[in-house]
Amino acid sequence: MKTSAAKRSSRAARRKIPRVLITAGPTREYFDSVRFISNASSGKMGAELAKAFIAKKTRVTVVAGPCAAMFPSEAGIARVVSASQMLSAVKKLANAADIIVCAAAVADYAPSAKISGKLKKNKTTLSIELSITPDILASIGAMKYAAGERPVIIGFALETARRLLSDARKKLTQKRCDIVIANTTEAMEADRTSGMILFDDGRISRFNNIPKKKLAADAAREALKIWSKKNC
Ligand code: C5P
Repeated sequence: MKTSAAKRSSRAARRKIPRVLITAGPTREYFDSVRFISNASSGKMGAELAKAFIAKKTRVTVVAGPCAAMFPSEAGIARVVSASQMLSAVKKLANAADIIVCAAAVADYAPSAKISGKLKKNKTTLSIELSITPDILASIGAMKYAAGERPVIIGFALETARRLLSDARKKLTQKRCDIVIANTTEAMEADRTSGMILFDDGRISRFNNIPKKKLAADAAREALKIWSKKNC
């Protein structure tokens, strides 16, 4: 007899059109009504991924933090601001997703408290206590795993060249990813990128100064290959 997870996965296979959920852009963590902590992120990688998956005839939804990147009109877009809003949106949409790509540059820490209004500039120094934000990629991996579902999960890692491989390997296992795309920090807000793609079967594919558009096309192709394998 088939388990409910196995039934769900054969239903997905029969559907044939995989549904793809992408996180993109930065998050903003406000400490008063006008000031926030964030990451330098253009959302370009997420936008290129959305285009690449649409070109592969999949159904795409993007959960995007505040950024100017142009997402394709064929994609559904959910706009969010903070990491906790991004987590809530992703949790709602993840149920229906066969492929989840976390390309957002989520702020790792958020102010522990937010004041309403504008903090006055009346001291020479200012300390703001920060608390760690939820890890969206790890939470979704754990949630899907606990439900017995096996979507294709792709994470990103942005590191200095020296730490790229070791840190990306850790993320691959700790965050239960099928693929981790590791970029060097030069990728930030740029159109081109260098780094490596790590697969959970141990393969590593390196890329050097390629357009994000090409990396997105490679990622979409590899994700769909894994999705087909998981559902055959
Ligand atoms: O641990 P680190 O932030 O370097 O991991 C990067 C990967 O994890 C990216 O795929 C990013 O979108 C995801 N991430 C996340 N939620 C966080 C931090 C990172 O989804 N709070």
